[in-house]
Amino acid sequence: MDKLTVRDADVAGKRVLVRVDFNVPIEDGKVKDDSRIRASIPTIRYLLEHNASVILMSHLGRPNGKVVESARLRPVAERLSGLLRWSVPVTGDALGLGTTDAIGRLKPGQLLLLENLRFHAAEEANDPEFAKTLASYGQVYVNDAFGTAHRAHASTVGVPALLPAYAGLLMEREIRNLSALLESPARPFAAVVGGAKVSTKIAVLEHLVSKVDTVLVGGGMANTFLVARGLTVGKSLLEKDRVEDARRVLDAAEQQGIAFILPSDVVVAKEVTRGAEHKIVPVHKIPNSWSVVDIGPQTRATFAEALEEARTVFWNGPLGVFEVPTFGDGTRAMARDLARRAEAGTTVVVGGGDSVAALEEAKLTSRMTHISTGGGASLEFLEGRELPGIAVLQDRPSPEPSAPRRSPPRSSKEREPVVR
Ligand code: ADP
Ligand code: MG
Repeated sequence: MDKLTVRDADVAGKRVLVRVDFNVPIEDGKVKDDSRIRASIPTIRYLLEHNASVILMSHLGRPNGKVVESARLRPVAERLSGLLRWSVPVTGDALGLGTTDAIGRLKPGQLLLLENLRFHAAEEANDPEFAKTLASYGQVYVNDAFGTAHRAHASTVGVPALLPAYAGLLMEREIRNLSALLESPARPFAAVVGGAKVSTKIAVLEHLVSKVDTVLVGGGMANTFLVARGLTVGKSLLEKDRVEDARRVLDAAEQQGIAFILPSDVVVAKEVTRGAEHKIVPVHKIPNSWSVVDIGPQTRATFAEALEEARTVFWNGPLGVFEVPTFGDGTRAMARDLARRAEAGTTVVVGGGDSVAALEEAKLTSRMTHISTGGGASLEFLEGRELPGIAVLQDRPSPEPSAPRRSPPRSSKEREPVVR
């Protein structure tokens, strides 16, 4: 999948509509975590430096088609202004005369932000009239919002169908890093999968089983796999209706001849709360009235050993209830181990909201090869599905093999950005 990027677009003197992912946590009118805003800066700067007028658009939260004061984008604009050292105005609404006027006055090298798109139900409904109005604001479309690329909304699918549509620099990095996992991973390739539920990860597991050499499973979802292998898990989180699915994945892994490693010991607690009584037990001795809350020390060692030779690792999902610090040892150990491996040259890609939060808490994000900004979107991508917001962007034309040229064309490699 090779998409044209903002670097291929002629943007000078043009109005460029950019779909960004400014869906950030806001508390007391302030942005609590600005990593998504920071991640969009390279594309915004690129466009401004190339003399485009930039119209940014995003959703925030779930206002469900109504104006919700707490979901206004003003705090985002304030933070963005701080980062760019340039005041970024927000329109009062994504539609209306005031907005059209403001866009009309926009000069090359200037930018503005449209108010929360989801104040209009037409956004999520991908309403054609709404898309047409948004498209009329610009001459070029850029999508830098990988986190919403799996949604077919007006701003992700409707608008780009009406304008020349390009991938932004962040989008490009996501596509390149995630497709490398599926298409050309350095081997051995290991997946570490955790998190709460099998149900949200079954599709990605099924797809990965045919791509990887090793799968390590932890977190709440490991319980369902343990039950599929005939063990009992006490009061632990368990999806009874997914045991069959888990068995199917285990069978597929066996058929592929890959290592599928479940915990051999776990931390169990009387309650899944801070300060609760807890102990380490082997997985065949999980007491009836206790819950699994983390992988045990033996499992941590087994996991580290299984990753020893790996040259590519994908990690999604915490290995325990890491929000309670006492139950976060497994997750923190994995985070440190992967940071060390990434620095030693292993490609380490991490996706998933909670996994990334755990890395941030441990201040290890910058040490990984790639952190995917999209939770659901990165999983759908790795399920092998084509994301609608990516599919709609223009493909890079493949060079004509039958037409010999006197001098070789400038290789597209030269124009590619450096990707960590
Ligand atoms: P991500 O957002 O990284 O994809 P998920 O949303 O799938 O991850 O899962 C994260 C949640 O899984 C966390 O809130 C964590 O507390 C929970 N979790 C991890 N291990 C367990 C467990 N053994 N029992 C219950 N919940 C767990
Ligand atoms: Mg999550």
